[in-house]
Amino acid sequence: MTILGSAACPLRAAVIGSGPSGFYAAEALLQSGLKLTVDIIERLPTPYGLVRFGVAPDHPKLKEVVQVFARIACHEACSLIGNTGVGRDVSMRSLGQLYHVVVVAAGASRDRCLGIPGEHLPGVHSATDFVGWYNGHPDCAHLQFDLSQETAVVIGQGNVALDVCRILAKSVDELRHTDIASHALDALASSRVREIHLIGRRGPAQAKFSPKELRELGHLEHCSAAVDERDLILSNECLVELKDPHADAAARNLQLLREFAQVGQVKTKQCRIRFLLTPLEIHGDTRVRRIVFGRNELCGPAFDRQARCTDQRVELDAGLVFRSVGYRSEPFDMLPFDKARGLIPHVDGRVACDGITDARVYVTGWIKRGPTGIIGTNRADSVASVQTLLSDLPFMTPVAKPGGSALREYLSSRGQRPTDWSDWERIDMVERERGVATGRAREKLVRLDDMLAAAGSRS
Ligand code: NAP
Repeated sequence: MTILGSAACPLRAAVIGSGPSGFYAAEALLQSGLKLTVDIIERLPTPYGLVRFGVAPDHPKLKEVVQVFARIACHEACSLIGNTGVGRDVSMRSLGQLYHVVVVAAGASRDRCLGIPGEHLPGVHSATDFVGWYNGHPDCAHLQFDLSQETAVVIGQGNVALDVCRILAKSVDELRHTDIASHALDALASSRVREIHLIGRRGPAQAKFSPKELRELGHLEHCSAAVDERDLILSNECLVELKDPHADAAARNLQLLREFAQVGQVKTKQCRIRFLLTPLEIHGDTRVRRIVFGRNELCGPAFDRQARCTDQRVELDAGLVFRSVGYRSEPFDMLPFDKARGLIPHVDGRVACDGITDARVYVTGWIKRGPTGIIGTNRADSVASVQTLLSDLPFMTPVAKPGGSALREYLSSRGQRPTDWSDWERIDMVERERGVATGRAREKLVRLDDMLAAAGSRS
């Protein structure tokens, strides 16, 4: 009897998205011992998703994981099919004719909104756009941020908010040798931002920073981190939370915040970390000028402390506002989508999509579990989804499917120019060479045309 995943009937698998969850899903498939091919389909000509376009340029260590991903991509059964948007250049339905299984690892590329008046005034931005801009994402390279303003307010207290603060706070000399996009480096060189407010709606015990990232904020060359000591007085419930052995990060954050509160030294720039403030309204005429916050108190039991807005109001002048309140996934082609939770609904990674496509569909990463965790969190998540996939194989009909070669033919017949791994290697080389010329790790290409030109024409 022919078995799917044998030499007689190799498994044709597609993974959509080349960020961490996509690469880890590909790795788990390649390690399954089956006879198979794995195609990683990516919307952009370049791989690596948020490792290239999300991880801060001054965190090169975090980016070293691309070496692991490159080894996965170079496996003889693995291919990159870049510059190919599913839902744009090829549909899920068509993929079902080419592949037996499709793993969706499309991440969460959009930002969450605050839903308050004034949010759409010029000068109010999503952190997602700012991060994409300084990381040279082709969708964000054209954006403008008015860095002639002296005061910036960053709303949210997660690691993305810290990244935004650090990039605003660092001098160009501190950023010059990173892979930050050149347009961002040029714009930041004339930045007049001096005062940055980093705002949390809950208290210091609930801040979502990683201590390592928070510590960095206290060691910037030209920017001091400041906290009002009175904000660090904690309720009994918060003290209970901090004593929990699993709350090590929160306890270390608090220690760092106490150190920031003691520092008297004021540098040219200041980052003020403030708590218990919910943005209610953003005011301005032609652009943002001020934000009105409601002063919060915390209520509820330990480990479920919630912010409750009081009648007290706090106003801050603001020339720039960045909302950094989490990422959000978008509905994916024809697949079911839970709008309220911003996820593809699934059972153990398996997506119910009868009648949508002939392939079995699975999901992993942020579009499966929400925008949480660090890069490595995606490994276990992808392994779990691939285990579900493998457990379904005995119930699938072993019909032959063509896989990537047919997808490439289909794309070429429609005038598309899919990229492969050697194209990415050429783009990578051009970026590194441009970097050498300016004394930098790499100088990213930020326009799709330039990436495709660097990839060269197909022989
Ligand atoms: P996050 O960690 O979920 O933080 C979101 C912040 O926004 C929280 O402080 C949250 O407060 C606040 N918030 C949410 N809704 C709000 C609202 N309506 N009004 C005011 N504040 C609101 O999200 P993130 O910073 O975008 O990070 C996403 C993931 O990427 C995280 O897992 C993060 O650790 C990871 N990441 C890691 C690194 C790194 O390792 N260096 C760098 C960047 C990102 P509440 O707590 O009250 O909800």
